[in-house]
Amino acid sequence: EKEDQYIQELANRIEEYDTKTSKATTFRELPISEATLKGLRESAFVKMTEIQKESIPVSLKGHDMLAAAKTGSGKTLAFLIPVVEKLYREKWTEFDGLGALIISPTRELAMQIYEVLVKIGRHSSFSAGLVIGGKDVKFELERISRINILIGTPGRILQHMDQAVGLNTSNLQMLVLDEADRCLDMGFKKTLDAIVNNLPPSRQTLLFSATQSQSIADLARLSLTDYKSVGTADIL
Ligand code: ADP
Ligand code: MG
Repeated sequence: EKEDQYIQELANRIEEYDTKTSKATTFRELPISEATLKGLRESAFVKMTEIQKESIPVSLKGHDMLAAAKTGSGKTLAFLIPVVEKLYREKWTEFDGLGALIISPTRELAMQIYEVLVKIGRHSSFSAGLVIGGKDVKFELERISRINILIGTPGRILQHMDQAVGLNTSNLQMLVLDEADRCLDMGFKKTLDAIVNNLPPSRQTLLFSATQSQSIADLARLSLTDYKSVGTADIL
């Protein structure tokens, strides 16, 4: 089939991509799908920021990642593009359930991530949803089984996991811990550990932080496997 051929070509380009010598400065030069490129273009995202240049090709290759870069450096697209592309290459549909889980410390930040995802994913077929509290758990539960990319706050995600017929994470391909430093500052360490312990170990995990510290290094050791560090995280 034509789409399978296109996906195979993308996979080959990712494998051949040399992250050490690449001089790519625009999204167009990345081995990513036409659907995502169109979404990016229509949202006026053309040139990559530093952290995007450094981390996206490595994440596309499937590595776990610890990325540290200051606030405003463009970390949201740095993880959303690999998430969307992974599900695209896996030909994910609503019947495949939850493919990616994105954890953010606050409702406001979670909503911002959702808005960016809707923009760059508008030509993609999978569904996205928010679980941030505020609505009742039952209302969220009814919709949650059809969501492919779920964005939520730590407490609410764990609450859903603890339900008898809760979140089914058995198919999960990717976990993103965004603003991990803030999650820890807000006292979510135990909640994050409990969530991570509930997830299939075969997943890919991306951990993003604005700062580096010993507690981020500790979280990375617990949640990541054979990970690559980019940004200022490599001095850990
Ligand atoms: P961070 O999470 O690192 O604090 P964000 O992902 O929230 O940063 O991005 C900060 C701002 O930069 C946002 O307004 C976003 O739209 C913009 N931005 C991110 N990447 C790009 C890019 N490649 N080109 C233009 N603007 C970008
Ligand atoms: Mg951010």
